[in-house]
Amino acid sequence: MTSPLPPGVPTGVSFDDALKIVRGVATRHVVDAQSVALSRAHGRVLREDLVAPMALPAFDNSAMDGYALRHADLGADGARLPLAGEQFAGRALDLALAPGACVRITTGAALPAGADTVVIKEDVAIDGDAISVPAGLPLGANVRRRGEDVEPGDRVLRVGQWLSPARVSLAASLGLPSLSVSRRPTVAVYTTGDELVEPGIALAPGQIYDSNRELLMGLLRADGLEPTAWPRLPDDPKQVEIALRDAACAFDMVLTCGGVSAGEKDHLPGVLARFGEVHLWKVRMKPGMPVLFGSLDQARVLGLPGNPVSVLATYLTLGRALLDGLQGRTEARPAWRARLAAPIDKPHARREFVRARLFSDDDGMLRADPSAATGSHRLRAAADANALIVVPDGPQRLAVGDAVDVLVIA
Ligand code: AMP
Ligand code: MG
Repeated sequence: MTSPLPPGVPTGVSFDDALKIVRGVATRHVVDAQSVALSRAHGRVLREDLVAPMALPAFDNSAMDGYALRHADLGADGARLPLAGEQFAGRALDLALAPGACVRITTGAALPAGADTVVIKEDVAIDGDAISVPAGLPLGANVRRRGEDVEPGDRVLRVGQWLSPARVSLAASLGLPSLSVSRRPTVAVYTTGDELVEPGIALAPGQIYDSNRELLMGLLRADGLEPTAWPRLPDDPKQVEIALRDAACAFDMVLTCGGVSAGEKDHLPGVLARFGEVHLWKVRMKPGMPVLFGSLDQARVLGLPGNPVSVLATYLTLGRALLDGLQGRTEARPAWRARLAAPIDKPHARREFVRARLFSDDDGMLRADPSAATGSHRLRAAADANALIVVPDGPQRLAVGDAVDVLVIA
């Protein structure tokens, strides 16, 4: 069969080259930035460096409930200090500590002027209007110094970082009500295939239920996107063309599944080549080899093969790379390595993604137990898996205990 693609389109590329192509295209199509309230910023990608407008802590304060004092007043045996007042968190900072006295203080309360050390309340004996402080309290004990965490002008977050809850909360602690983040890319999801039927409808002979739609919707949602599922497409070139062109003028990304191989019912590559641009077709990976990537109108189009496990492997690698790139994420995702719990013998040269159960053993070692099921149609083994083992390019004989990269599934 002749190729539906014009000459020069990369096909049969290595997995690493595919990743480079996807990342390169994505960086040329980064979505707009928008300013959002902090509560909307979670999970987004930051589009501005965050420079601290203030110190954290903003003022010297007590780390514990106790008594603020001057360290110089403590002798070799400790000291008996009269109580001169109280300082609670949230109060104005008008209290000054006279030499030889102490002030009752609560956690987070500003240190009175003159105080430099806090003794915790459990360590003192109350003696009328005074407290007895034991010996040995170091200077500065239980005091949080102004600026010890953040100094004004510190660059605390950077463009391209993913906003974890702690990072959003850091912005809040600096008094910032909103952040500039990437708009969420809009994603249209199409499953394709004459054999596909909606769950709940009786199957005719030869039909199967569309399971990939839920797989894709779930993966996208777990990554913080709000995908739109479009009606299933039959294996008809005209309908594929109309649907794809329709979605491509309204979405940032069109994610399809099925119909990307070289069979006579696989129309995606031809339609994309005819109306848009193909950036790559077929990657030396297993499963997922026929994956297709291109641009059409304003959308990036990622065509995943139909086998459910191919969907997992291609989405978690190329799909995520594309979505991260479109959002301007430059911070790498966390990478994990684990030790094999069973050997893997891979005679072929393609990079392989093997379903696995990732667990931590009694010694705290991360282990990956590869699934015995091969065959990219076997969804049950995927349902039992929580990770994919990445088996490197080239033939590999990996033994129990060998370290491998693993991709954690959502
Ligand atoms: P294709 O990539 O279209 O050649 O499909 C490869 C295999 O995946 C075939 O066995 C299809 O029936 C199956 N398949 C394709 N799309 C889906 C889907 N949405 N849900 C479940 N299986 C699918
Ligand atoms: Mg098909």
